[in-house]
Amino acid sequence: MASPTVVTEEITFDDLALAKPIMQAVLDVGYEQPTPIQAASIPPLLAGEDLLGVAQTGTGKTAAFALPLLSRLDLTVNAPQILVLAPTRELAIQVAEAFKSYAHHMKNFRVLPIYGGQEMSGQLRQLKRGVHVVVGTPGRVMDHLRRGTLQLDQLKSLVLDEADEMLRMGFIDDVEWILQHIPAEHQTALFSATMPGPIKKVASKYLNKPREIRIASATQTAEHTHQSYLVVNGFERKLDAITRILEAHDFDAMIIFVRTKTSTVELAEKLEARGYSAAPLNGDMSQVLRERTISRLKKQQLDIVVATDVAARGIDVKRISHVLNFDIPHDSEAYIHRIGRTGRAGREGRAILFVAPRERRLLETIARATRQPIAMMKLPSGKEVSGKRIDQFKQHLTETLAQQDLKFYADLLLEYNSEAEQPIENIAAALAYLLQRERPLQVKDAPPSSDRQSKHTNRDNRENREKDNRHKPRVSRKGRDSSTRGSNTRDGNMQEYRIDVGRNDAIGPGDIVGAIANEANIDSCHIGHIRLHDNYSTVALSAQISADSLQKLRALRIRNRPVLLRPNDKKTKKL
Ligand code: AMP
Repeated sequence: MASPTVVTEEITFDDLALAKPIMQAVLDVGYEQPTPIQAASIPPLLAGEDLLGVAQTGTGKTAAFALPLLSRLDLTVNAPQILVLAPTRELAIQVAEAFKSYAHHMKNFRVLPIYGGQEMSGQLRQLKRGVHVVVGTPGRVMDHLRRGTLQLDQLKSLVLDEADEMLRMGFIDDVEWILQHIPAEHQTALFSATMPGPIKKVASKYLNKPREIRIASATQTAEHTHQSYLVVNGFERKLDAITRILEAHDFDAMIIFVRTKTSTVELAEKLEARGYSAAPLNGDMSQVLRERTISRLKKQQLDIVVATDVAARGIDVKRISHVLNFDIPHDSEAYIHRIGRTGRAGREGRAILFVAPRERRLLETIARATRQPIAMMKLPSGKEVSGKRIDQFKQHLTETLAQQDLKFYADLLLEYNSEAEQPIENIAAALAYLLQRERPLQVKDAPPSSDRQSKHTNRDNRENREKDNRHKPRVSRKGRDSSTRGSNTRDGNMQEYRIDVGRNDAIGPGDIVGAIANEANIDSCHIGHIRLHDNYSTVALSAQISADSLQKLRALRIRNRPVLLRPNDKKTKKL
């Protein structure tokens, strides 16, 4: 075997000479940069060489073989040219789905997952019709080869995915049988998280001068950073987990790392909708906009940045108290780089890593590389979140009692007290209930953190939750502001206004609320739903705002820039 390839230099997708439709699909899915295993595997696989890759799930290994092998596919040949062997039905389906998305721009492309327990007739029909890629579990692939229903005379590439898992599950003899019964002329790629003896034996027997890929992983210590992980699966569960963490932890500023550019925008929007001042940071944004976002984070105009690895490179902001790995990084080097964004200038930092059950292996590799323990953490309990909310509630009361002239209300309540013959504590309780109705002080525990729901159910839940969130109060970072901003113009008490600054000006809802509240001394409970568009934003304001205050808003300044606030439709109150 050749000596291991160590990848250190920066490689972009443009350097990799993938076929055009494949590059287009890579752009579509929003990958910014090849992962290390991809940078190392794609060139030899494109050149038709054999490959031995040591890589766990989460490193991007599926694309590492799918992208180059698809680039070499001849769509005019209506026969299997790529065969992937995978240990489980789940993985077979997942890999087939990945092929489908990477081949999105290849007309008439067909991939078929085949696994035991599935109706034979459907598989036979599809095989007869012709497929370009087959992804199967060893047993079922063997069945088809024996029956002659899977013809591999056009096979160009064979992939053994998660070879050590196939060994562990007792499929290694089937795999060898398959290797012996397929045409000899093809390239072979073997991926495995570990290299136990029997896998090494298979590799040396069936691979032809393979390129061996092992990603060099830096080992480093992160002394000032407390690291923990949480097992959680799926976007929705992760979003819920983040929301709880944000409520229960005292944080100053946070960087959340995700894998794709699209996720930076999606997650930042979701967090904004939940009342946090969050913004995306990705490689699609201009340098100027990126710098502006970082500078807002420094100046405390922004508390959360949702970033890709590429865009967050080199960020040095002392107030970042938390790094949250929403998606696990592809390797330990990226992890070390990410968590290095916190614990700066001698301060204590906190790094939290979300790990899907399938990614546990990668977690072990990362833990080994950092030479620091990564402790398992529990999701903050309902009790903890309740405790925080109650503290904030009390603080809010204390501040209001100290700062506001409440005589009018005190008299009013005494009057009600004698009219309704209700004890004053019951009246106070009713008011507290009304105040906190949208953000209850009693919080239930979250459901288990890993989900096995179907995509469909997830989407339904997400939609429902989004509906719910429209009526949730916004919460300022420190939780002092529990005012309701869920109301919208439809309830008749709010009117919508428009301002000509939007997402492209790097502003967030926090800037708008801050400006309105400060300029005209308007209590934030009169500020309703804020919608950010690229070039403008809308904000709902309570119809109870006095003409005088509205007048003051004519001279509104957002982040030092004069902005004209005007009714969004002609029927609304004139400024
Ligand atoms: P895998 O190791 O193949 O299971 O991939 C793990 C995850 O990484 C999948 O969700 C992929 O969509 C994602 N992924 C693969 N390549 C990249 C890349 N270059 N940039 C960002 N995400 C990627």
